[in-house]
Amino acid sequence: MTDHYQSLAHNPIGQFVVKNLGLPNPPVLERWTEGDPLVKGTVLVGAAPGGLLGTSLHATLKASGIEAVGVRADSKTYKGLVFDATGITDTAGLATMQQFFTPAMRSLARSGRFIVIGRLPDQAGSETAAIAQRALEGFVRSAGKEIGGNGSTANLVYVGEGSEGALGSTLEFLLSPKSAFVSGQVIRLGLTDLVDADAVADPAKPLAGKVALITGASRGLGAAMARTLHRDGASIVGLDVPALKDDLDALMAELDGTSIAEDITAEDAPAVIAQALKDAHGGVDIVVHNAGITRDKRLKNMKTENWNLVIDISVGAPQRITAELLDQGLIRRGGRVIGISSIAGIAGNNGQTSYGTAKAGVIGFVQDLSKRVAKDGITVNAIAPGFIETDMVKTMPIGIREAGRRLSSLSQGGQPIDVAEAIAWYANPGSSAISGNVVRVCGQALIGA
Ligand code: NAD
Repeated sequence: MTDHYQSLAHNPIGQFVVKNLGLPNPPVLERWTEGDPLVKGTVLVGAAPGGLLGTSLHATLKASGIEAVGVRADSKTYKGLVFDATGITDTAGLATMQQFFTPAMRSLARSGRFIVIGRLPDQAGSETAAIAQRALEGFVRSAGKEIGGNGSTANLVYVGEGSEGALGSTLEFLLSPKSAFVSGQVIRLGLTDLVDADAVADPAKPLAGKVALITGASRGLGAAMARTLHRDGASIVGLDVPALKDDLDALMAELDGTSIAEDITAEDAPAVIAQALKDAHGGVDIVVHNAGITRDKRLKNMKTENWNLVIDISVGAPQRITAELLDQGLIRRGGRVIGISSIAGIAGNNGQTSYGTAKAGVIGFVQDLSKRVAKDGITVNAIAPGFIETDMVKTMPIGIREAGRRLSSLSQGGQPIDVAEAIAWYANPGSSAISGNVVRVCGQALIGA
């Protein structure tokens, strides 16, 4: 969908009106195109004394082809500011972080990146360190609101014991335009069973040799996911309802993928999907439970058949399908199971009790399953999209639609590619330390902040 207000705000007359009436002025966000460098500019790196990462942070960025410096030059602008806060052991120490960022804020480029790396508070080693590390969340979320106006984002990454060496794929994602619509998020790297953290042979095709099943793949976010995972080298198995078989087949033909025309709530769906994956590829590496619907009604007007449908598509069927694939041993070591939640599942939304329940259930699903399959080297995470410009949002009343777009730090809706890039980051073999996470792709929407 086109955001007409944003286009208007960027023509000369619109610019004048927006400025003089103090209206929101949505920045044009940079997005990544194949062949571009990951980061178009230099990243400034700082650290609190005694941090866990030391010089390895520079080495990690270098390995990803990202230019990083440790000393700020007054005349230069920086595409990213990264601070290793893992050495902060009490709240007095938080000032080292303020002293790094304050003078650097004016040199942050448009669509810049502000990243803090901390230690998981419950592993910080002392009570005072845990408190100081927890404080980082408020710092980063406030900074995101301060810098969103120029298209910049702020995010926090907590590293757990043993996962300090697994930051590469996450920094590549957060520092690049691939994370254009991700701000105010907290990412936790905790798993130490780093099955294939270093296994990316070709950085341009990090998913080469992997098989990805995507439900609801014929359009919207699912189609963007299929294209993006295919771009990154994966073989795609797309699934959608039989009524959309032609659209699905056309997309799969374009991506050299395989189609499954099946309703995921059908009784035989788990068996049908398992058989199709076995026949086409002998198994699967990445499972994205993307299919979802809304049947929005106030609770007082809710019909049970619609309630059941919304819950079963988003969270019932994904459980049954995943269980069948695990039972048959079809999700390979290094596998990824990814759920699609929503900010409505975090904050709730007026008129969306069924959807909010379903999408909160998705969070329950990934948090529970992530613990059970960690031993098998499988990660389970969710993305919670905010307002994304797809067919789904066309049906919203205009007032709610405009509020959804503007009430965020980036004052616009996201694009399907923004969600797809986040899926590709979870799917990346380098992201094996990330499990049980729920990351919002929402431009730091005020809903559920
Ligand atoms: P969409 O309606 O464009 O696409 C959803 C796809 O799922 C469709 O192709 C549909 O046919 C398929 N699907 C629905 N029921 C199915 C079933 N029973 N079996 C198989 N396939 C089925 O929606 P979208 O905007 O692309 O949303 C994709 C996911 O993202 C959904 O889970 C949605 O809830 C979630 N989401 C979207 C937004 C947004 O702003 N667009 C925000 C938050 C969450």
